[in-house]
Amino acid sequence: MRTTLHRETTGGTDILDLTSDVGRYVAESGIREGWVLMFVPGSTAALTTIEYESGAVHDLERAIERLAPRDAEYEHNLRWHDGNGYSHVRAALMGPSLTVPVTGGELATGTWQQIVLCDFDNKPRTRRVLVEVHGPTS
Ligand code: ZN
Repeated sequence: MRTTLHRETTGGTDILDLTSDVGRYVAESGIREGWVLMFVPGSTAALTTIEYESGAVHDLERAIERLAPRDAEYEHNLRWHDGNGYSHVRAALMGPSLTVPVTGGELATGTWQQIVLCDFDNKPRTRRVLVEVHGPTS
């Protein structure tokens, strides 16, 4: 059971909530017990979870800025001149995939835990997120 979610991003550090779309697909899949695997193709985007409220999202953006500052010097930029060395480092630190258990036909995420796509690239992108639900169909 696989689908693809699409998101348009702006080229800033976009952090987008995917939880309702993933949850809807899990429900449609008919799988009650199993897991859902999500993967974002591309070396400048990542998946994680966070409490999706503006304070926590801004805190995450600021923490990422401290870890891999936009204006720092990156060998990638010197080599390729695409200016997104920080984007690659940020994406690598966070990782491109996420697995969430499915119990009773629902995501086993916490009440305040949302699934988010992080796009770190320096230009707008159309992102694809592959979503696969695994488990016995009832
Ligand atoms: Zn690059």
